[in-house]
Amino acid sequence: MPSADAILPYLERIDASRQYSNFGPLVRELEIRLAERLAPDAHAVTASSGTSALVLGLMALDLPRGAVCALPSWTFVATAHAVLAAGLTPWFIDVDAETAMLDPQACQTVLSRAPGKVRAIIPVCAHGAPLDVGGWAHFQSQTGVRVVVDAAAAHDSLTSAPFPMAVSLHATKSLGAGEGGYVVCPDTDFAQRLRMLSSFGFNGSREAQMIAQNAKMSEYAAAVALSAMDSWASTRLLYQQTAFKLRIALKDVPQVQFQEGWGLRWVSSVCVVRIPAGTLAPLIAFLKANDIDTRQWWGEGCHVSRAFAELARDDMPNTEHLAATTLGLPYCATMNDAQVSRLTGLLQQFFQDS
Ligand SMILES: *Cc1c(COP(=O)(O)O)cnc(C)c1O
Repeated sequence: MPSADAILPYLERIDASRQYSNFGPLVRELEIRLAERLAPDAHAVTASSGTSALVLGLMALDLPRGAVCALPSWTFVATAHAVLAAGLTPWFIDVDAETAMLDPQACQTVLSRAPGKVRAIIPVCAHGAPLDVGGWAHFQSQTGVRVVVDAAAAHDSLTSAPFPMAVSLHATKSLGAGEGGYVVCPDTDFAQRLRMLSSFGFNGSREAQMIAQNAKMSEYAAAVALSAMDSWASTRLLYQQTAFKLRIALKDVPQVQFQEGWGLRWVSSVCVVRIPAGTLAPLIAFLKANDIDTRQWWGEGCHVSRAFAELARDDMPNTEHLAATTLGLPYCATMNDAQVSRLTGLLQQFFQDS
């Protein structure tokens, strides 16, 4: 996260403008800078969190209340919360065994098994991995099912916005504002709809034009996000540098598989690896015994959460396998050499002995 020193010039601009929220100058500047990174027709609309960004993206589709929305179970619970908060009916489906993401081609067949007509689908960029944008554009045009992407961890890998994509600016994600998020989308009308949905359904008057939320980003969060964007190029290099060090140190440990392209073509704030079936629990315990914490970021998949126990789901063989073979290792942009070699040394030792 940016230092207080780096944020200060932006805070001074808030003092001068005395505008604290409601689409102030810092939020507008942030939205322009976020959209500029993408295709020329892209728009960005800020939100109070990644979850609310996803809720806005789904609400803006204007689907009938209760319409079925397919989502992977292999995701963070926020994806399912967002579907419910947007008034839609979640249907959990399985992801591809290799990419750990929904596959646009496979999903065309899966839809025939749905408990009702599927009106929307949420591909999730697994831990920030890039999306098969072309494949999903084809899916949408073939099926008429609306695509809204949970790109919460994928700030770095977004290149275009042919459909709404929601990104998180939580402190744990690669570009951090503390709490915050944004949606990118391809057209002005949709962007305007997102803004109305984030602000009580207001459109120039104090009359609510639609059922909506308060999901606006404050000028203070925008100050932090702008400052994080100023240093993004160097933050990104540090993420890459650390990823290279981990990859080099583990190049002779084939049991540890990094995500395709991670740290090379795209970066994220987490290091998620695949390890052989049967080694997950012993590895977690071994690292724990050496005072090293790990994360099973998505647990057993979110369909097993108590809150979602009653929701419809398809069979989940790949999700179950991923849950048994996926582990989040310690990782950050400023990880030092001693930390890298302590972690990788223990991994080498564990897999040599196992
Ligand atoms: C982090 C995350 C979210 C939620 O973002 P918040 O900003 O914390 O609300 C949603 N989906 C996925 C896949 C995430 O990783």
